[in-house]
Parts: sequence; C-alpha cells; structure tokens
Amino acid sequence: MNLGIDIGGTFVKFTDGERRWKERTPETAGELLSLISSTVLKLKPEKVGIAVAGLVNTVEGVVTDSPNLTFLKGLHLKREVERRTGVETLIVNDATAAAYGEYWLGVGKGSSPFICLTLGTGLGGGAVVNGKPLLGASGSAMEVGHMVVERNGWLCHCSRRGCLEAYVSSYGLERFYHMETGESVSSFEVIERAKDGEEAAIRALAGMASYLSLGLMNLLHLFNPQVVALAGGIPVHYPQLIETVERRTKELSFPQPAKDFSLKLATLGEFSGALGALLFSLTY
Ligand SMILES: [Zn+2]
Repeated sequence: MNLGIDIGGTFVKFTDGERRWKERTPETAGELLSLISSTVLKLKPEKVGIAVAGLVNTVEGVVTDSPNLTFLKGLHLKREVERRTGVETLIVNDATAAAYGEYWLGVGKGSSPFICLTLGTGLGGGAVVNGKPLLGASGSAMEVGHMVVERNGWLCHCSRRGCLEAYVSSYGLERFYHMETGESVSSFEVIERAKDGEEAAIRALAGMASYLSLGLMNLLHLFNPQVVALAGGIPVHYPQLIETVERRTKELSFPQPAKDFSLKLATLGEFSGALGALLFSLTY
C-alpha cells in the first residue's frame, strides 16, 4: 500500500487508494511533520507521495517557496519525513499532482496534452503530456498563476505585479467585487450573491473570467491542449464559469488550437491532489 498526501492551505488530505480523510492544516512545520510522520508510522505504507501547494524541487524533495503556506518555504520535506519514518517519500507540486490524478482517474483520461488548473486560494497549474507529468528540470513547471498578464498590474501573493493569479483566485475575485461595491466579502459570498442574481457579483465574476480566458489563450498558443480542466473551490461552486470561459477563450485564440480544445470541470473533487500524489508515488 502507498499513501498519497496533499498539503493545502486549509486541509491536509490523505488517501491510501480506498479510504480518503482530511485534517486541518497545522500552522507550523514541526506540527505538520508530526501529523505526517505519525500517520505514516501508523499505516506503514511502502512509499509516500506528498503534493504541496507551492514551488517544489521534486529531485531534492524541497519546498522552495509557498506563497500561500509561508512556513513551508525552504523545508526539506522528503528528508524530514524519511528521517522520521524510514519510508521512501516523493514530493510533487499540488497542481501537477491534481493534473496527474485527473488524467488517470478523472476528466483528463486519454487526452494529450492535458492541462489542469486549480482555482481556489491561488491559481495552480499542471500538465500531462503523453501520459507523463510535465515537471520541468526540477518540478516547478507550469506555474500558470504567475504568468504576468498586466505590466504593473495588481499585486500577487508572490509579490510580483500583474500575475494571472492576482486576478484569477479567491483574492482576485474579492478584489473585483470590492471595486464594484466597496465591500469586502469572501469569494464564496460573492459566488452566492451572483447565484442570487446580484449584478455587482455577476460583474465581478465576469471580470475574473475575462482574465482566465486571456490566460487560457496563452496556454492554448503554447501547448495546443486537447482538454483543460478546472479544479478547485471556485469552479466547483460556480460551474457556469466553464461555458463562458470556454467560448471566450476560443474567440481570443488562433482557430486551430481553439478547435482542438475543450474546457471541462474536474471530476475528482478535493482529493485530486492526494490521489495524484498516490499515483505519482506508484510510478516514480
Ligand atoms: Zn504571482
């Protein structure tokens, strides 16, 4: 048995292939390492795959940066888990893991290139090409959220300006809504208000969707993907986004890649990263 783990901003998710469960994400690296190592020591898997929300070096097993989980920055996660448990551990970016999971078990089946974007607190991206995850030289490929789409644009959590994530994320959506109304409410509240027909909330979501379409156009021109999947809290709660964004992306793009691609809602839900990390540990 292998164990897949996904360290997210709010929850750490676990799966051994049959069972799925989650725990609140601890606030320090020490507590996180105890949570992971106690679970590994109890279940005794042959191998562990860990997906992390952040930039990782898969070769060395280090989290090099994590704008939305700052205590992970610089953590040698592979070494620390292996030292505490003696079990071989692999580290992978969470969106790459989600893409790998969706490719084998979800909406990406049989498509190539397949791209999966995770749209929640931040904006992550992963790609699977001919059945293999696109890792780059060390595992930090496909940082879709940090493609710059506006020079001197809105501030991103990574401290650059004009990143796609600054517009397409929970905090991007909250900012669009604040511009419309002067009110600060959560992204989920914005979505609820849009579903109730509130004009300002609908315009805020349209603002986010227009940047998402621009980002997707760039991806279509770079990768000519067959399928792009949207995962994460925002598309799950507002699936209307899919049709609008697919149509707008096709209008913006060159005709050939526009014709080849379709945009779909991811199907594995909140465990896509943990399942992908599990599959990753079985393959690599
Ligand atoms: Zn950024």
